[in-house]
This record gives sequence, structure tokens and C-alpha cells, in this order.
Amino acid sequence: MNNSVIKPGSIICILGGGQLGKMTLVAAHQMGYRTMVWAPPGDNPAMEMATHRLVRPYDCPETLTNVLSQASVITTEWENIPLGLIRKLESHGGIVRPGSKVLEVAQSRRLEKMMARELQIPTTKTVFFSAKDFNADGLDLSEYLPGILKTDGLGYDGKGQWRVNTPKELFEAHDKAGVDCVLEKMVSLRTELSILVARSPSGQINLSDVVENTHKDGILDTTIWPLENASEFEIKKICKIAERVADHLGLEGILALEFFVDTEGNLLFNEMAPRPHNSFHGSIEAVYTSQFEQHVRAICDLPLGNVRFCTQFEMTNLIGGTWEDWSKILGDPTGRLHLYGKAESRPGRKMGHVTQLFP
Ligand code: ADP
Ligand code: MG
Repeated sequence: MNNSVIKPGSIICILGGGQLGKMTLVAAHQMGYRTMVWAPPGDNPAMEMATHRLVRPYDCPETLTNVLSQASVITTEWENIPLGLIRKLESHGGIVRPGSKVLEVAQSRRLEKMMARELQIPTTKTVFFSAKDFNADGLDLSEYLPGILKTDGLGYDGKGQWRVNTPKELFEAHDKAGVDCVLEKMVSLRTELSILVARSPSGQINLSDVVENTHKDGILDTTIWPLENASEFEIKKICKIAERVADHLGLEGILALEFFVDTEGNLLFNEMAPRPHNSFHGSIEAVYTSQFEQHVRAICDLPLGNVRFCTQFEMTNLIGGTWEDWSKILGDPTGRLHLYGKAESRPGRKMGHVTQLFP
């Protein structure tokens, strides 16, 4: 074992208190680590699972000192933790994995698309509009319409997105957004696919199987494996892209990449997230190493595990407003129920998920 390994017994600090953090904590404890969660006050389902609970704003200097003095490695359970904090932790000697370079790109749709262009990875037809001066002069907007205007940062579960058909609708949506945005041409989708790549600080790379996703109202609804609407050729292309991106970013941790396949068979990179991803929740039951354990292994520089599925599965999200009949799932002999323990159910909020196994 190399000396950069962060050994079980050490403290892992997770920034963010959501369900992805909660499930990562379960994996970390299973592997003998102690944990800290740092998140501002709010509905933080991860908090109760942590060895040390830091309910503090992200600009609290005492908490920063506390984390730096105790945690052997710091990670994030969503990519939108303030970049200033990540950089401060790094500049004071904290080991943050994935680091600020990866998070910076993952926080901005514009930077993600620029990276894709640099690496010659096909992506949706996209144009950037700054918050201040909406300059569409000289642009042939018909190339991008009908389209989706998306906020450059802070979007998730279809939030911060406006479907626009005409230049007038585009101007109105941009006005409403009030922040930097990208306009993406609407893709006629055959299917959506995702992959999880892990890369350790020593440079070991591991790829998951590719999974197939269906969305409802911009929110992930179901994920299945094996795939029903993708070819071996598309899967191979996705694997190559995932490896290339992980190496390019010098990833230390895990990274999920989302893709569209359009009705003409073009594979297009959509976006990425350097953390556990909803479409890999089935990995808790259907593989040897879950995505959460893989995350822990990668940030601690342990040998990476095996995220290849050993059974057919379908994962379905339980969304606020429609999840209340979850008790039925307990009567399904194929199903495993996960409820996140969020204090409040709101329409569109992820409250839990169920994974059905079909060995
Ligand atoms: P987020 O997941 O951060 O909310 P995405 O860009 O992944 O944002 O969009 C959410 C979903 O909306 C996608 O998975 C897809 O189903 C749909 N969508 C987003 N962009 C497009 C597009 N350009 N064409 C067609 N569908 C899209
Ligand atoms: Mg997405």
C-alpha cells in the first residue's frame, strides 16, 4: 500500500448534508472510517449519521480550523459547495478530493461544454449568455431554438431551466433568470445514458457499467441495467470519453457523466457531477462495490472496487407529491426501499428510491 493512503480510522469530512452524503457515510462507517459533516442549518439527512456534526455556515472560520485540524480528507456530496471555501481549505493544507479544479468545471455548464469542446467530445449545440448584457447580435437563433435556457450554475433536477421556442420567449426567460445562462438546442432524445468513473490519486481508473435513464419533468425517474436502447458501440464510446475526462481533470474521486443519444444516433455529452449520482443508486444492491464505497476508496487512495452489475435491476425515485404510497413497496419481494428521512416532502423533492432486483 502506498503512503498516500488514508487509512480506516481516519476522519473523512463531507461538505453538504443531503442524501448522497448520508449514503456515503454508511459506506465510510462500514469501512471503519470516522466522519464529519459540515453543512449550514437546514434539512440535512446526512447529519445524524456523522461522528462529528458541524451545523455551521460555510464561511465560519472556527469550523474551517476544526475541519483542517481533524479531517484527513475532505470531500463534497454536491458540486455547488462555494469554490472559495474549497480553495481556502486547499491553501491551508487540507486534502480536498475531488479538488477545486474539478469542482470549478462541474459548477458551470459553460466550462463543462468548453472542456468537451477541447477534448473533442460531441455535445449539445450551446451558446452562452452573460447575466448582464444579453447579446444575440449576429447569432442565428434558429440554430438553437426550440431550446432550453439553463442557468450556468446551481441547476439540479431540472431547476433553473426554461423551455423556449421563440426569440421573445428566450429574452423573457433570460430576464427571469437574472444570472449567466447557456441556451441549448432541444435534442430529440432516443435515450439518456450515464457512467461512473473513479480515479484514485495514484492514477488507477475504474469504470462502471453504463446505465440507462428516463426523466420526468427534468427529474430522474428510473434507471435500468442492462440497457434497452443503446449499442455496444455507444457504450464503448462512453467508456473512452469517461476515461479521457477523468485523466484530463486529474480526478481524485468519482465522476458521473450524463449523455444524450438523439434519434439520429448521435451521442452527446450533457453534464457531469464529481460525486455519487442518482442513476447509480442501484449499485448499493446490484454490484460488489457501491458507488458510495467507490467514492470512499477513491478519495482515500485505496484500491478501487468493482462497479459492474451482477444482476438486472430497475431503480425508481420516490418524489415528493407522488411517493406517499411507498408502503406498497414493502410488499414487493423484488424491491429494496430507501427513505432519506427528510423532514419535509415537497413536490419535485427526492424523498427516497426503490431498487428492484431481477436476478
Ligand atoms: P440537471 O440534471 O442539472 O437538472 P440537465 O441538463 O441534466 O440538468 O437536464 C435535466 C434533464 O432535462 C435531462 O436529463 C433531459 O432529460 C432534459 N434535457 C436537458 N437538456 C436537454 C436538451 N438539450 N434536449 C433535450 N432534453 C434535455
Ligand atoms: Mg442532469
